[in-house]
Amino acid sequence: MPDLGAMQDWSLVVTHLVDHAAREHGTREIVTRWADGSQTRTDWAGIRRDALKMKQALESCGIRKGDRIATLAMNHARHLVSWYGAVGAGGILHTINPRLFEDQLEYIANHAEDRVLLYDAAFKPLVEKMKPLWTTIEQYICYDDGEFESWIGAEDGDTDWADVDERDPCMLCYTSGTTGNPKGVLYEHRSTMLHALSGMQPHAFDFDASTVMLPVVPMFHAASWGLPWTGAAAGVKFVFSAVNEPEVLCNLMTEEKVTDSAGVPTVWLGIFQYCDANDLPLPKLATATIGGSAAPRFMIERLMKNGTRVAHAWGMTETSPIGTVGAPTHDWAEKSFDEKVSIVAMQGRPVFGVELRTVELDDMATELPRDGRTSGALQIRGPWVVKRYFKAEEDATNVDGWFDTGDVGIIHPDGTLQLTDRTKDVIKSGGEWISSVELENAAAGHPAVAEAAAIGMAHPKWDERPVLFVVRKPGTNVTGEELRAFLTGHVAKWWLPDAIEFIDEIPHTATGKISKKDLRSRFSDYVLEDA
Ligand code: AMP
Repeated sequence: MPDLGAMQDWSLVVTHLVDHAAREHGTREIVTRWADGSQTRTDWAGIRRDALKMKQALESCGIRKGDRIATLAMNHARHLVSWYGAVGAGGILHTINPRLFEDQLEYIANHAEDRVLLYDAAFKPLVEKMKPLWTTIEQYICYDDGEFESWIGAEDGDTDWADVDERDPCMLCYTSGTTGNPKGVLYEHRSTMLHALSGMQPHAFDFDASTVMLPVVPMFHAASWGLPWTGAAAGVKFVFSAVNEPEVLCNLMTEEKVTDSAGVPTVWLGIFQYCDANDLPLPKLATATIGGSAAPRFMIERLMKNGTRVAHAWGMTETSPIGTVGAPTHDWAEKSFDEKVSIVAMQGRPVFGVELRTVELDDMATELPRDGRTSGALQIRGPWVVKRYFKAEEDATNVDGWFDTGDVGIIHPDGTLQLTDRTKDVIKSGGEWISSVELENAAAGHPAVAEAAAIGMAHPKWDERPVLFVVRKPGTNVTGEELRAFLTGHVAKWWLPDAIEFIDEIPHTATGKISKKDLRSRFSDYVLEDA
């Protein structure tokens, strides 16, 4: 029997990325600006060397293939080492978002059955508090105070990566952008590799040998948009900052000659405000990737006027995360500046590798025309789109493999996606999720509240902020201030609604559920006071 093909076996495992970076771009620098203001420099060869040592250190801790290795950390070179060290040991890298609440942190680490946790000293108090609640973590390693260095320093790095299959899992990210408990998305080596290669498309990250990338998107957010993987494939110079203060970011951009950066709109707004307040010019970047929330028009305009290409991207934790990126059209040169801004303000076109469609909201199946007018539920499929959440019994996709994003949008005839709404009951503030259902449940715990509904309202700094609409029980007269004080004990401070409005009735659907759609359209002219 002849072989079906005659090409070599070179499995799509992500350690090939760091091998390539160390071999072909070994001296390309990886700079870290630490929280205490100090800076260190290593390079891709150093990252690989340390990752091999970490792989041995994990083996010394008894880590076996498939075990979960968690991180609770900001962006820095040691965190990057851990990405490759964890997957290189055959483990599953689990990046935990330190901004989540304690009960979510407890749930996530226990659900993932993490065995090792690497954490920044800044999170030590949190780690100490959580330790009694985390039932599976056996080993805690702090990145700072020499602890990480001496842990991996005990090894010689003379080893090979663990033997894994390309369909084996390599990374686990939880998303709280759904109702109920956070859900885990388990990426595979193959899916991560294909996603990394796709990120190199010119209309996506467009990296080359001269790229100096400062990722502001945290390494615990949706795999940092795949940058630590794609960056290795391209051999970019990375500049990491363990703090996200605009002053620090702007200084680094200038001093390290940063060409590219990536972050949620709130990050860019902070940079604008810092530059304006200090009468400084905006750093001159070649590309600014903006995603996680819709990039506002004024932001796109200002960056483009500064000579920066704005790559406005849409994606989800469930999609690894790249789905679409704003791409110049074939007739870009003929477009006016305003037309270009309008195109970039939409969510862009799918990168090669994923398919999009919109369907009727009523049946979630009837495909809608790509006519630039008809809006519907957005669905996606492709090799780096979730099939089933971690440990879930059922698939998260329909029979044809489509995943329902919970976003609502229009597809234009040229394939450009324009998001218009969201069906999932969550509010995204500064890139982090707020559950409207949990806010409503907390408010309903007040004896004077008959019913409460939370919706996200546009906010210039945070993109969206929650507003709570409340129906009082007859005969009661609770005030907004009293209700706010009550909520303070029940939800995190940054979840507190920016406004509480008392109304006579909350609209309901035919099945008796709160109709957020009707509530939103009733208050479509609503403007937040500080907005
Ligand atoms: P996450 O899984 O936390 O990355 O959140 C994914 C969700 O963020 C998407 O389903 C959208 O609701 C929202 N989102 C991401 N990118 C954009 C964008 N460019 N414009 C509007 N919403 C976005």
